[in-house]
Amino acid sequence: MRKKIFKILVFFLILFFLDVSVSFSFIKNQENLFNYIDKFTLDPNPIPIGDIAVSRIKVKSNEKIVDIKFLGKDIPFYPFGPNEYWFLLGVGLKNKPGYYPLIIKIRKANKILTTKVNIYISYRFFPEQFLHLPKKMVDLKGSILKRVLQDERIIEKVVSKVHKHVLWIPPFIWPVRGKIISEFGLKRILNGEPRSQHRGVDIKAPYGTPVKATNSGKVALVRNCYLSGKTVIIDHGGGLYSLYAHLSRVYVLTGQYVKKGQVIGLSGKSGRATGPHLHWGISYLGVRVDPKELMSILGES
Ligand SMILES: [Zn+2]
Repeated sequence: MRKKIFKILVFFLILFFLDVSVSFSFIKNQENLFNYIDKFTLDPNPIPIGDIAVSRIKVKSNEKIVDIKFLGKDIPFYPFGPNEYWFLLGVGLKNKPGYYPLIIKIRKANKILTTKVNIYISYRFFPEQFLHLPKKMVDLKGSILKRVLQDERIIEKVVSKVHKHVLWIPPFIWPVRGKIISEFGLKRILNGEPRSQHRGVDIKAPYGTPVKATNSGKVALVRNCYLSGKTVIIDHGGGLYSLYAHLSRVYVLTGQYVKKGQVIGLSGKSGRATGPHLHWGISYLGVRVDPKELMSILGES
């Protein structure tokens, strides 16, 4: 009996020390952080799944940020006044809620120091949509499947390139004005089988509505895809891309520079679409984020 009590005591003692060491290291980290960083802002904070956030960091006058990493990716960052930097952070649909470190490397004199800020990724509810479509439309086989996979490969290759020079300036504008008929992240269940989540927003747009570039950039891809139809991708720099699908006409060419508000094509229902609409997507560092959230932080009011 005494042995058992002793074991329980030891167990609680270990717990007590573990707890103390955890909180101590937490305090130590925070002190470490404030040794190097004067100011840190994040909007939104926490970052919900599928969202994009703007962050600003101010370091001490004798320091320089040399590297920022988040979720295993190099984050392009830009000067914003003396000792201050801004950057975007994106959280994909595949990320899970929890704390993730933003790893910042700072140069001070001739030393490189590493510090981190723990950023919380919060849960977000995505509704489900049950659709019944003819089997032929849903099950992609043979040459069609090959084409779909090739479209996907080409698009992902384009949007994963990071050209550091930023071509956009706020605010971003809506490519068309209309009701959102299908939200970002919607879980589509086709004939009882779960499919990938909706990676953009569908905006209702009558056939032939002019589609505008959400911001300035360089046309990175014009392609007639099997699923997304006539598709245009604009590279806004810094790893940020906008994607416009199901167009009926395209007025731009790959490699061409476009200005914010420039008409890049007309809406339609090319590819696999049940009716005319614009599918609008935003990609940041190769990960799709909610265009509505981009508009809420950096868009026109
Ligand atoms: Zn869509």
